[in-house]
Amino acid sequence: MPRSLPTPYPDELAGSVLMRGIIRCALPQKRFLKEIFGKRMSNLSFFLPANISCLANAMRISPERLLWGHTIFPYAVSHISVAAAHEQANRSLARWGTNGADARCSAALVQAATQGVQSLRYCQQCVASDIRRFGESYWHRAHTLPGVYVCHKHGLALCESDISLVQAARSYECDIPQYQSSAPNQLPEVPASVLQGLAVLSASLVRRRQDWHDDWQPQYQLFAYATGFSAKWGEVASSQVAKHLEAMYGNDFLRRLGCQVDRPSHSWPALMVRPGTVGPFSPLKHVLLRTFFAHATHGPKTFSYRPSGKIPRDYASLDVQLAEGVSELVAAAERVGRLTTVTEVMTSLGRWSTYRHDRSKFPLTTAALLRFRSSESSERKLGRRPRRKAGGADTATSKVSNPSLRGERHSTSRETPSPTCAPATDDA
Ligand SMILES: [Zn+2]
Repeated sequence: MPRSLPTPYPDELAGSVLMRGIIRCALPQKRFLKEIFGKRMSNLSFFLPANISCLANAMRISPERLLWGHTIFPYAVSHISVAAAHEQANRSLARWGTNGADARCSAALVQAATQGVQSLRYCQQCVASDIRRFGESYWHRAHTLPGVYVCHKHGLALCESDISLVQAARSYECDIPQYQSSAPNQLPEVPASVLQGLAVLSASLVRRRQDWHDDWQPQYQLFAYATGFSAKWGEVASSQVAKHLEAMYGNDFLRRLGCQVDRPSHSWPALMVRPGTVGPFSPLKHVLLRTFFAHATHGPKTFSYRPSGKIPRDYASLDVQLAEGVSELVAAAERVGRLTTVTEVMTSLGRWSTYRHDRSKFPLTTAALLRFRSSESSERKLGRRPRRKAGGADTATSKVSNPSLRGERHSTSRETPSPTCAPATDDA
């Protein structure tokens, strides 16, 4: 009679069930697997094993439940068409592991669901909770997915075990998480809410069954418009999506996952939102893009691309650009605790002269400068500006606030002595 296996726990990886079976029987792996499959098994995937039917039988569950509930299969097919996912499911359920094409297909699915993952991971709080509930711990699918660095349930940094993915792929004579002694990982420099978003979305994808959109591209275009990534003439600002996505995650993090953004206009996020691009893209890229849109600030961001030649004086879009530039520069100064001035900010943006001569055409920029002047990063904060000395040098900050907000026309004559007035002396 074939040997039976333990019943899988919720979200337990198939390989983890085999590992617990070997620990319980105290048999060598080769003999144990031969007793289950009736023949020698090598290269049995921890994440998506061959001969699902035989394995499911030993676990006393249906093959479908094993495939969808205890392998990385749902995550790997999460963003392909429904028809293609069904075809893959049928192949995986029928697979016996002798067909070379099937083995390559299986390897591709595993690769898609373990991209950038080095070793098995676990959450210390989940281990404690599993021991309380089941008397032992196990390897969860949701902790081992790409881009997942925190527990989707507890928000804690995951621990990286000493079981590498290569090792897990060929040896089941390893330990379950409670016998691991790793410290929690140092988290990547990505906002905690973003890391949590990646973990929650990934966990929901691996738990999901047959709930897909057939075509993600129109969805992403809608997300892009909803979050304000539209170009001046109504197209999706795809390069800006890529730039903002890179800024949110940081290129180190993206590179670590094999999803770096090198040339924004030709990069994967731009292609994913651009109409007419042919995929497929890895599930991880979909997860990164969806999490980006979920965290992108809503509101209008009209991007106008500057044509070559003379710069057109489109004051409305220039005002939007300048206002955004001011906010970004001020945020950067705040991050490093540096004081700055209006002149310095506007000179850095290369538009000080344009702005000074046509202030009334830049209402958004003026509003952004006013917000800056009320902030702690302003060297001349509003409300505590020292009295101007009679005949003394005007300050750059007073120049901006006066005409636009207080109507003190007298300062105008002093603020435009020459376009070359240097920030250093201006701010002194
Ligand atoms: Zn946990």
